[in-house]
Amino acid sequence: MPIQVLPPEVTSKIAAGEVIERPSSVAKELIENSLDAGSREITVEVHEGGVGFLRVADNGCGLSAVEAEIAIRRHATSKLSKLDDLEHISTLGFRGEALPSIATVAEVEVLTRDEGSSAATYLHLEEGKVTSRQKKSRPIGTTITVHHLFRNFPARLKFLKSSATEAGHIASLVSQYALAFPEVKFEFIADGRTSLRTPGDGDIRSAIAEVYGLDTAKKMLEVEGAAEMLYAAGLASPPSVQRATRSYLSFFVNRRYVRNSSLAKAVETAYEGLLMTGRHPVVVLNITLPPEEVDVNVHPTKLEVKFRNNQAVFRAVVKTLREALEKSPVPAVGAGREDALAGRFWEQYTGTAGALPPLRTVGQLSSSYILAEAEDGLYLIDQHAAHERILFEKILSQRAEKKPEIQGMLEPLALELTPSQEQVMQHCGGLLEEFGFTIEPFGQRSYLVRAVPAVLNGSNLLETVKEMLDELGTEQDASKRDIKAAQSLACHSAVLAGQALDPDEMKNLIKQLEHTSSPRTCPHGRPTMIHLSSQQLKKEFGRTG
Ligand code: ADP
Ligand code: MG
Repeated sequence: MPIQVLPPEVTSKIAAGEVIERPSSVAKELIENSLDAGSREITVEVHEGGVGFLRVADNGCGLSAVEAEIAIRRHATSKLSKLDDLEHISTLGFRGEALPSIATVAEVEVLTRDEGSSAATYLHLEEGKVTSRQKKSRPIGTTITVHHLFRNFPARLKFLKSSATEAGHIASLVSQYALAFPEVKFEFIADGRTSLRTPGDGDIRSAIAEVYGLDTAKKMLEVEGAAEMLYAAGLASPPSVQRATRSYLSFFVNRRYVRNSSLAKAVETAYEGLLMTGRHPVVVLNITLPPEEVDVNVHPTKLEVKFRNNQAVFRAVVKTLREALEKSPVPAVGAGREDALAGRFWEQYTGTAGALPPLRTVGQLSSSYILAEAEDGLYLIDQHAAHERILFEKILSQRAEKKPEIQGMLEPLALELTPSQEQVMQHCGGLLEEFGFTIEPFGQRSYLVRAVPAVLNGSNLLETVKEMLDELGTEQDASKRDIKAAQSLACHSAVLAGQALDPDEMKNLIKQLEHTSSPRTCPHGRPTMIHLSSQQLKKEFGRTG
């Protein structure tokens, strides 16, 4: 085939295909236009997952008859006029591609009125061409209705999922915008049923209450901080609120909903050691950066962004989240009772990370487990895991306050390291010092240990230091090394399984556990306890009724 320039009908279809992948892409473009138009109320309505019918109505600035005709043309935008503007984008849209792209793959009705017009302009478009022009009545604002998406694109239609799934994508999209713009009233109606309505009172907590429920909204911690030219604000769940998927993480960069793997990683790092393995927090974070620090022009749907300085953003987000989590109040004893009363047999699979009910020690099993009772049944507590949790939090808080408790050696201990341990020592020496170690170089691969953290108990100090270095060496991610060090220190200092405890020691351990922020999980994310509920006991013994 000879080389040839593609005719515009073909190029416009290719371009449309990049922006409009599925019904939720249409919803995204239309909602962003409504937000750019300064709307305070946005209603999204769909039928058949948005394929049959999708409508976005707003009370934004609207368009005049002349503007409406221009808006539907390719590369027509009111948001960008010269190349330089592309470096400082502050609106959600800027490519001038959405409306013409949607009109290429669906039938579109535009109804819009601006302040200066007495009547609204109505345009009906088929295959990108205006087939009807009318004047209609409508308050100031815009309604865009999209019918029969991809009707002439069977290959695209085939790729779509069920109506319910597509509607689900749109619902979560609307939810994300509702969280990013709490000052805007959002309503989402699917097949005639309102499934989301936010108050638009400007409070992110009220938006969360509508999206994730009142209970979660009440527990969320405030996050706010500025670091490295970035300002981050929002809400983050305390360790007691845990979810099975990452889909409760929402990031907005300069108010644009984005997916970004390093932001997700930053959250994971900030919560390291606080959640059970495979569990995720709820986080809604608005990040504000100078526009030139973010490139939103890397992806056709603008869903992904690139930061000029990815590392700095990562560090700043970890820092602000950690600060919020450190300030997290110790949960009141008994606050986790609703969870505990759920009456499941093996409670640690049911996501109960809340505070503990008051526990009374009954005894010790196999010199490894503490048996305790509460109003709601029996608790079997792994003494090592529980003690690890207590020490882990103590170690981290002492370090945060820069006051590690230390024990000095009467005689310095000579430490001989392997070459790889020495590498770790050179990189992490400062970190070890922050935790209370004083270790001085003493010739080739030899060191003198002059002081260690007070939590470390007497025997095998040198072995412990070497093992800590080995463990730190396996952590590739430098930002997680402090958590790793605290985990390792807690693990080496905690009471072991197989060690007999007297009643006072057990009582003391449980008391301290009650005061931790995540009493039900060890720092490695394993459970510290299992719960056999009173209901379950009754059931097992046939005492139903
Ligand atoms: P972009 O958003 O990239 O500018 P679009 O094709 O999405 O491009 O929209 C083209 C233009 O139409 C916008 O720049 C804006 O001026 C106008 N427009 C689109 N939707 C609305 C709306 N809901 N309210 C007011 N103006 C709108
Ligand atoms: Mg747009």
